[in-house]
Formats: sequence, C-alpha cells, structure tokens
Amino acid sequence: MLPGYKERSGVSDLGTDHSPLRAAIVGSGPSGFYAAEALLKSEPVVLVDMFERLPSPFGLVRSGVAPDHPKLKKPILVYQRIAESPQFQLLGNVMVGRDISVEELKDFYHVVVFTCGAEADRSLGIPGENLLGSHTATEFVGWYNGHPDYRDRVFDLSHDTAAIIGQGNVAVDVCRILSKTVDELKHSDIAKHALEVLAQSKIRDIHVIGRRGPAQAKFTHSELRELGELADSEPVVDPNDLELSPTSREELAARSNRANMKSYEVLQGFASRPPPTQHRRCHLRFLRSPVELKGQERLERVVLMKNRLEGEPSQQLARATGELEELACGVLFSSIGYRGVAIAGVPFDVGRGVFPNHEGRIVDGENIVPGLYVAGWIKRGPTGIIGTNRADSVATVKSLLTDLPNFDAGNKLGADGVRGLLKNRGIRVVSYPDWHRIDAAEVRQGKTNGKPREKFTRLEEMLAVLDHAQ
Ligand code: NAP
Repeated sequence: MLPGYKERSGVSDLGTDHSPLRAAIVGSGPSGFYAAEALLKSEPVVLVDMFERLPSPFGLVRSGVAPDHPKLKKPILVYQRIAESPQFQLLGNVMVGRDISVEELKDFYHVVVFTCGAEADRSLGIPGENLLGSHTATEFVGWYNGHPDYRDRVFDLSHDTAAIIGQGNVAVDVCRILSKTVDELKHSDIAKHALEVLAQSKIRDIHVIGRRGPAQAKFTHSELRELGELADSEPVVDPNDLELSPTSREELAARSNRANMKSYEVLQGFASRPPPTQHRRCHLRFLRSPVELKGQERLERVVLMKNRLEGEPSQQLARATGELEELACGVLFSSIGYRGVAIAGVPFDVGRGVFPNHEGRIVDGENIVPGLYVAGWIKRGPTGIIGTNRADSVATVKSLLTDLPNFDAGNKLGADGVRGLLKNRGIRVVSYPDWHRIDAAEVRQGKTNGKPREKFTRLEEMLAVLDHAQ
C-alpha cells in the first residue's frame, strides 16, 4: 500500500463501462494532451475532462512556439484527434484555483492530473530589473503570439541596440523575431499588433548574452543556424570567444555533448564570415552576466560582469572575474527560463517551481497525496522539446494506473457536476465544439491577409464568436 492511500476491502469495478474512471486534466498544452491520450488508450475505461483557463487550447504550442516555425505546431493535429474522442471533454475558460478549487475537483473526479506547465519567469534579481525597457522573454513571446495576458504590453523598439540575456532556444526565437523583416513574418500567424510594431523597429544590433561559454550554450544547432539564413540580418561571433579551455574541449568531445558540438561548429562558421554588411546584426556573446541595469527614466545600459568557468567537464559554472563592462541598450529581454506557479491545495516546491512528486504522484513531504498526479514542465521543470512531454506523461499515467486499485471507487459526476457548479458561479465554459468555432473564425480572418490564422487576442473577442454562432 502506498503511503497516503487508505486500505480498501473487496474488488472494485472502477475502470469498467459500468463505472468509468473520471479523470480531470488541468492544462491543455502538450503534456495534458499526451496524458489524455495515454489515459484514453489504457485498458481501464476512462472519461477525461481537460480544464484550460483560456478559451483556446494547446498551451505553448499555440502561444510559445514561434510564429515562423509552423512545422513545430504540427502536434496540434495529433491533439485534435485526441480531443475528438467521445470520452474527452474540454472545459475551456475555466481556471482551476480561481473558478473551481482543487478540493472541489476531488469531489467530482477520482483523479486529477496537473499539466499546467511553467507560466512564470525566473527573475535576474539584479538592481534596475524593473526599469522601463527591461522585459522578460515570456512577455515578448506571449505578445507576438497573441496571448491575451500579454496583449497590452508595450515594447519600445525605437532604439538601435537590444540585449537578450540567456542562450537557450527561447533567446534565439526572440532574437530571430527581432531580426526578421516584415516580409519574412507577414505570412505567419504572428499577432497583427506585434507585426505593426516590429515593422517600425529601429533595432540594428541584438546582443545574445550567455553567462557561460560557447561549449555550454543551451540553444540547439538547427535554431542557431537559422540566424545565419535571414534576409537582412547576420550573426556576428568574435573568433577569440570560441577559444576553449582544455576542460571545455574535453566536455565537447563527450558523446553526450554531441548536440553542443554541433552548435559550436555552427558558431565557428559564423565566426569565419566576412564582416557583416546587412541591416541588422545578431552578436552572440559569452562569459558575461548582467549585474545591473542602469538608466534615468528608462533602461540605458546593462552592466556586465566578465566570467570564467570553474568545475569539472559538463559541470562548469560561471564565476565572476571582477571585471565589468557596460553595453548601451534601449531594450532588454531576460530569457533565463520559466518557473511553475503554485495552485492552492497542491503542494509546491518553491525552490524548483514544480509540484513535488514521486514518479508523477504528487507528494507532501514523504506522503503521497491520493488522487493527485503531475506531468510535463510542472513535474520536471522547463526542459526539453514538445515531444519530451509524451514519455513524461505516459510515465505519470503508468503510475496512476498502477494505483487504480487504491482509488476511492465512489461515483463521481465529472463534467456533468462541474458544469452545474460553474453555471451557478456565472462561468462560461468553452467546450471543444465551441473552440472549433473560434478556430474557424481565426482561420477565416487570416485568409484575408494571407496568414494561416489571425488570432483573437482578447477573451471577449473569442467569446463574442460564440455569441454570434448562437
Ligand atoms: P533554457 O534552454 O534552459 O536556457 C536558459 C538560458 O538562461 C541558459 O543559457 C542559462 O544559462 C541562462 N540562465 C539561467 N539563469 C541565468 C542567470 N541567472 N543569469 C544569466 N543567465 C542565466 O531555457 P529556454 O530558452 O527558456 O527554453 C526552455 C525549453 O524550451 C528548452 O528545453 C528549450 O530547448 C525549449 N524550446 C525549444 C524550442 C525549439 O525547439 N525550437 C524553442 C523554444 C524553447 P546556463 O546554461 O548557464 O544555466
């Protein structure tokens, strides 16, 4: 018996046609859909209800993947097939923790699987971080992708220099969107308001700044390579910055670091280019950490500490040398990773920004919290590509199914009960067929401008589509 579960007597028929397992999934991004898929394919009979705080599903595939990377949005086709199962329901426009509590969910479902991702940012924690002109990549990405939370953010791109802190794929996405011409973006699903601002951008130099060296950068080689294939922007790398210490050379030579080696080779290619001639330049800079943002009314300069690396191969950390330099810049994007957000009623690991768990079972100290599970970024932290979440969700569902004999087999109402409760609270639930109508309206709007879709960027606009359809 798992610690936290009560001893049960007799054989339960939970998971049969007569008594299906009722599962709530909180969050409609990749890990949520992969958890739904695993549950629906499992031998026990499961009814899956997926909760999403926006009227639109698909999480970061809709509002995180860059608009100029349509191939990365292909998993949506898989999610659509999963959503069409008669055992699946979407309850969109419902925020768990605000519109319905976790305690209430436990009354309506045998199990709750949290797949709510990592919605907040890590902060730099340096003086001046809140100056006007200092932003997080999350805000910028949400804004150009039309996420309603970020619709009204203002990005002043009237300066000639931008700095991006961090060297992961999000940093590269931000750099590429700032670097591309309007012609390169206008047929993507980029939000209209963002394209209008980017069209007026005066930015010429973009510095992508990493605290460690070229052998440790987190971006992948294919994303990096694209910076060398843009219409009117070029990458700039100082060959001196690519000189490696014996430890970094050893690190790159390891089989497990093949991906970093490929990125390093792309950087070597960039360093051997002739001097840049194009309108914009993307400078890849290493071994520098921001220690202060300076400016009177708004950001004017970032103070950078030069670093050296210390430690064993593959575990090298950036250490301050004491040498400072300043970079004049009018806008800065901090792209140093995401953090999960707590939900009332669920244990939370503040240090790591995840729900503490043992193989996907949420734990409170040593004890398992019966019926609560977790998958995706809120389980393991913000790492990996979209597909990584599939194996992660499958592993969580495996734990859940192993525990099935321990569940309280009492009758649970699932969505039928939840809808009644939410109706009384004045919450308008957006179903999957409702989302279809919103989706079709976005696609129609996009056609006029030669885009795959023109996203609605306000909740009211999405809900208005449903009012008109009635
Ligand atoms: P990430 O890959 O973890 O990169 C974070 C970057 O921030 C690293 O360079 C890290 O340096 C740096 N950093 C962290 N804390 C810092 C601090 N206090 N000061 C300065 N630098 C700091 O995160 P991400 O770019 O947000 O991406 C998240 C995940 O989504 C990744 O798995 C990524 O591959 C994935 N993603 C994929 C795609 C794609 O496939 N096209 C696109 C976007 C995102 P250290 O290495 O020194 O920690």
